[in-house]
Amino acid sequence: ADDVALDPWGSSSVSDYRKLFEEFGIEEFDEVLEAVPNPHYLMRRGVIFGHRDYRPIAEALRNDEPAAVLSGFMPTGDPHIGHKLVFDEIIWHQQQGADAYALIADLEANSARGMTWEEIDEHARNYLLSLLALGFDPDEGELYRQSTNREVQDLAFELGAEANFSELESIYGFDGETDVSHMQSVVTQMADILYPQLDEPKPTVIPVGPDQDPHVRLARDLAERMRFFKVSEAYASFELEPEERALVANVYDRLDPAEFDDDTLRCVHVAEAIEETPLEDLDVGADVLGAVLTKLEEAGMEPVRPRTRFFDRRATDEAFDALIDAIEGEKRVYESHVDAFDLDVAAAEELAREVEVENGGYGFQPPSSIYHRFMTGLTGGKMSSSIPASHISLLDDPEDGYDKVKAATTGGRETAEEQREKGGRADECPVYELYAYLLSGDDDEFAKRVYDECVGGERLCGDCKEQAAQLMREFLEEHQEKREEVADLLEDADIELES
Ligand code: SF4
Repeated sequence: ADDVALDPWGSSSVSDYRKLFEEFGIEEFDEVLEAVPNPHYLMRRGVIFGHRDYRPIAEALRNDEPAAVLSGFMPTGDPHIGHKLVFDEIIWHQQQGADAYALIADLEANSARGMTWEEIDEHARNYLLSLLALGFDPDEGELYRQSTNREVQDLAFELGAEANFSELESIYGFDGETDVSHMQSVVTQMADILYPQLDEPKPTVIPVGPDQDPHVRLARDLAERMRFFKVSEAYASFELEPEERALVANVYDRLDPAEFDDDTLRCVHVAEAIEETPLEDLDVGADVLGAVLTKLEEAGMEPVRPRTRFFDRRATDEAFDALIDAIEGEKRVYESHVDAFDLDVAAAEELAREVEVENGGYGFQPPSSIYHRFMTGLTGGKMSSSIPASHISLLDDPEDGYDKVKAATTGGRETAEEQREKGGRADECPVYELYAYLLSGDDDEFAKRVYDECVGGERLCGDCKEQAAQLMREFLEEHQEKREEVADLLEDADIELES
């Protein structure tokens, strides 16, 4: 969708994405990489560079627990090699054991882009054929189109009750001229994102480009607003002494659930909540605080400095210092609170969801997301569906694919001599991107060799492009053969192909 808050940018340098980490709170994917079982090459090579809350997915995949992956495609043109990144991400998660969903965003294409239903049908078929040809298993996964999925429509209606116009205005720049169908397509998209959790709450990842992050944030928000059961209540049902229970419930009740996914924020909020709580309200005695402090100290907290106004009537200064220091240790403290009470946060959250589901709620988990870099256009700048020379369509004649690669701009130097001397600029080269994102497949060695030879001056652009062009031709030939082979599979799949 056309979002206002995040602009796609074409360069492949990670520093360009720094803004996303700093301003929008997207986390670096590298930090979770080692938790991921058999990471996909797009993860290993940093093409998938960011995430929101991916840890629960990695954990579920590792432990063979329920997880889901979902992404949607707006059928506004032919699928191209940029879309292949998302296809690959869905398929990889499916192969790792996640329930996989791919949807055709036909309502959005119609309302936000003004596509006719005939155009939509044709493009939808092309997207689905490529997805199946690349390995999506329709027997294990689910394909659907927005307009014919009644459950999605009902959920969209419910979610719409949790959102209002001013919100959509500030997120998407909607104004008095925005038509109602466009707004409806937004809540439909929110329903798509939460749809995998309709039967049971489970970690769900949405692979997208970073420009789609506003959708993810809104969906995470709405997931929380649909919750009516507080995590603190789950804590309260753990085996705790009454005083401990009161303290924990008291603190956690003051947390903003919308921010409950971020460990650091969570700790800061715990700290704030404790600080803001009048002693009387804490309703615990010095002996309990003393016990907490002992446990914190046992967990490695050291008293440092006094800083506050309460507790001192009942707890000693040193003990209080220890608590405050521990609290200020952000993550540390949160973990030690958990340790101190022998609580398991994930277990408490799960319990909260179970109770909610038992009481007729959804118990949604805030959806997670992963973000991949945009491919640079073959002619430089951004890869765009509307500029044929800038991208390679998965439907391009293999010879045209070959020619487009041959005509691509490179990160090469003015002369061969200069290139041998200084090396090429692989980091700025759309051809190198083709190798890294697609042509090397799973072969890291090959991708690395191309890179090293380029920057080391051993590789010259003419030969390099020739090799890439041949590989592209082969890829397109094979892909298109597979598309023909899976045509029957698509006919048998449980999705309406015509509107
Ligand atoms: Fe790009 Fe290859 Fe030239 Fe290096 S040698 S700049 S990777 S085309």
